[in-house]
Amino acid sequence: MSLVRDGHGQPAGEVALGLGTNTDAGLTTAEARRRLEHYGPNALPPARRIGAMVRLLRQLHHPLVYVLLAAALVTGLLGEYVDCGVIVGVVTLNAVVGFVQESRAEGALEGLQAMVRTRARLVRDGRAQVVPSEEVVPGDLVVLEAGDKVPADLRLVRSSRLSVDESALTGESVPVDKDEAAVLTAATPVADRRNLAYSGTLVTAGSGAGVVVATGAATELGAIHRLVEAAETLATPLTAKLTSFSRVLTVAILALAVVTFGVGLLRGQGAAETFTAAIALAVGAIPEGLPAAVTITLAIGVSRMARRRAVIRRLPAVETLGSTTVICTDKTGTLTRNEMTVRAIWTPGGEYEVTGSGYQPSGSLVDAADRPVTIDDGVSGAALRWSLLAGAACTDASIHRDGERWVVVGDPTEAAMVVAAAKAGFDASSVAAGYPRRATLPFSSELQYMATLHDEAATGRRIVLAKGSVERLLDLCHAQLDAAGDPVPLDSGRAHAAAAGLADRGLRVLATAMSVVGGNDELSPGGLAGRLVFTGLQAMHDPPREAAADAVRACRTAGISVKMITGDHAATAAAIAHRTGLLDDDAPAGTVVTGADLDALPPERFGDAVDGARVFARVSPEQKLRLVEALQSRRHVVAMTGDGVNDAPALQQADIGVAMGAGGTEVAKDASDMVLTDDDFATIEAAVEEGRGVFDNLTKFIVWTLPTNIGEGLVILAAIAFGTALPILPTQILWINMTTAVALGLTLAFEPKEAGIMTRPPRDPDQPLLTTSLATRILLVSTLLVGGSWWLFEWEVSAGAGLAEARTAALNLFVVVAAFYLFSCRSPVRSAWRIGLFTNPWIIVGVAVQALAQLALTYLPAMNAVFGTEPIGADTWMRILLIATLAAAVVGLHKWTGSRSVARRRTSTFR
Ligand code: ADP
Ligand code: MG
Repeated sequence: MSLVRDGHGQPAGEVALGLGTNTDAGLTTAEARRRLEHYGPNALPPARRIGAMVRLLRQLHHPLVYVLLAAALVTGLLGEYVDCGVIVGVVTLNAVVGFVQESRAEGALEGLQAMVRTRARLVRDGRAQVVPSEEVVPGDLVVLEAGDKVPADLRLVRSSRLSVDESALTGESVPVDKDEAAVLTAATPVADRRNLAYSGTLVTAGSGAGVVVATGAATELGAIHRLVEAAETLATPLTAKLTSFSRVLTVAILALAVVTFGVGLLRGQGAAETFTAAIALAVGAIPEGLPAAVTITLAIGVSRMARRRAVIRRLPAVETLGSTTVICTDKTGTLTRNEMTVRAIWTPGGEYEVTGSGYQPSGSLVDAADRPVTIDDGVSGAALRWSLLAGAACTDASIHRDGERWVVVGDPTEAAMVVAAAKAGFDASSVAAGYPRRATLPFSSELQYMATLHDEAATGRRIVLAKGSVERLLDLCHAQLDAAGDPVPLDSGRAHAAAAGLADRGLRVLATAMSVVGGNDELSPGGLAGRLVFTGLQAMHDPPREAAADAVRACRTAGISVKMITGDHAATAAAIAHRTGLLDDDAPAGTVVTGADLDALPPERFGDAVDGARVFARVSPEQKLRLVEALQSRRHVVAMTGDGVNDAPALQQADIGVAMGAGGTEVAKDASDMVLTDDDFATIEAAVEEGRGVFDNLTKFIVWTLPTNIGEGLVILAAIAFGTALPILPTQILWINMTTAVALGLTLAFEPKEAGIMTRPPRDPDQPLLTTSLATRILLVSTLLVGGSWWLFEWEVSAGAGLAEARTAALNLFVVVAAFYLFSCRSPVRSAWRIGLFTNPWIIVGVAVQALAQLALTYLPAMNAVFGTEPIGADTWMRILLIATLAAAVVGLHKWTGSRSVARRRTSTFR
């Protein structure tokens, strides 16, 4: 809803006044609630979906359906109304089943989007808060930081080097610099309104704040949104490949059918009869269920992954996951919990331990002699006071009491330093009063530090406070504070040694610094160089996640290498790598490659070095991109995690970009293929496992379905070649294909994952879907079907059965063999017995349903009339079961010899 027209043409203060809000304290919670009720949630109405009728009709847009409709027309003209009706019925049923399944798959994918919620940072009641972006209302004071997605249309009231990627709105991907003070006329076009930030655009750098002028559909994005349709989301490289494969196959089969028709006519057979045979051939041989089955299997994979907290944003990722050979993961938050607690503080004049745990500010600082220390007593060194003050004031994080618990708003690293300062007596309100902030140089992974400019209320001096990585910050310092609080020349060797000692304990170490500056000094990266005074080191504990070590081990067993890529100190990275099993205990020193090492590598050695190393420290985002490219050039399939704005290029380049749902920026999520809702490394491993399972199940379905098609096609071909009666009629073939695909075949998509799925090497993405052994099995089963049904049909006829009765026998044989074979297809290598009969209950249900359907088809007079079937006797059933059992035995034997040779190969190639 929009309250203010042309907010860009008025000064910020007037806009805020018009919206009844305050540019410092924001709205009150009560007022926000009222406005939410009045204006409704800040969400776009669902995009216009393609109408149900169109989607239903689209199901008919398949070559096979055209063949069937032509057949219906011809049979109708010939007066074969029953056949005509059956064909039309099957086409309709098929379209409805396809429609329902497609809708469900799409629904599942749409539901996923809701799992990754966008949050907005704003100020209400004068307090920083994070709320779901749907709850943002006009008048809210929204705070922006690099990496955020702008939650609504804002009139900026503050900005500092703010730049925004507006490509979502304008298509222009070069970020636009924003400035709240820009004076614009009402006529300024949308793309040039530099004092507005638009909903849906991404903050790429800097920070700022603005009041909401429009939410939901009233935003500029909302205006565009109404124009676009929902995108096609169900295609992946594999479905595309299969679709084009089925198209080629369809054309070939149709050509064959035409030839058959011609040959039949030349041989003097009746036109109607020959036409029927040609149709039967086409209907039988085309694997029409295949593309649908693939989509459904993928969709089931997607929801299985979502249940394990990996949300797929792009469907092709489901396929790629199973082929992953390298996972490049962050340390902080992914392998560790990102729950930081400062444990130790080192200053040039003394060392301190910090007690207490979590973000609760209870606990205390003690010095080396175990005496408690606070900032107000004379005991503490001046350096400690300044170090703590940097943590308390040079920060955007805050802690709040929420009942019994303490919650953090902002970065955990910063929150830990806020807590440490609070334990010594610095609380947020006294810091804000004593050191009001005048300017900010925000943290970025490139800078590796943050600096702020303050007035010192007590003395009127201007002070810079800074915190950041030890290497970068010490580089900016020329002096350090001694115990008495006087600047003395910097002893950076001693500081580095102290930092290394703390990092070896697995602690994350940040350095702090301060400086007294002149009244009109500005804050800029260049201006700080050589002017800071080092005040100390704060070392924080961030425990590894419980599941991380197991997941790393599982990946290794699965032939996937895990690499840690972090911006943190080499020693901290190594310590965490040891604890999570990424580095073996006896790994030699120097196994950690730093960003500086990478820069020093000659290009020809880069690939080898990257492929060989497991831990990368002090890596910048551009280097991440180079790492991904190097690994890909060595034919790796790379999954890469990232959370910051600058990680977006690497995430996009990676085969699977993985963003953090809880701790990541919106920019990173936008660039990713998959989002982890719990940020946990173990979730990536789980997703890979599911990805492998999806591929297995796809293969199983294909191996199961093809023999029926090939068998049916060959039986018809043989009948025409020998000039004999058709052993199965077209309508009967339709029956077999449609009922078994749904009742039997689809149950394979619910098949649990293979035992040992994570003990084999990753699948080569270029490897064909079917191995030679599986292709042989398909041909074997096809041959058995043709031979068996032919023999049975002849037997029944020569035993005096009518054509209809003999056909019913052949038809039932096809279905029974397919049902027996289904159990074999549950695993490509393990025998049906080893899998356990009841591990997939859907299969039992499916077989029972199919059995009832067959009995109905065989014995119900109505069904007999429609499908040209006839009841068969118990002895015929015995023959059917006998052939099916024999066929199952042959397949079992083939599988057994195959798995033995695989086992032999394994033992020779794997140690
Ligand atoms: P990581 O979080 O993996 O360590 P980053 O690129 O986020 O990598 O950070 C790089 C380094 O910058 C960190 O190791 C730390 O020393 C420092 N740092 C991290 N967060 C902040 C922050 N909010 N303010 C100042 N320095 C920071
Ligand atoms: Mg970080």
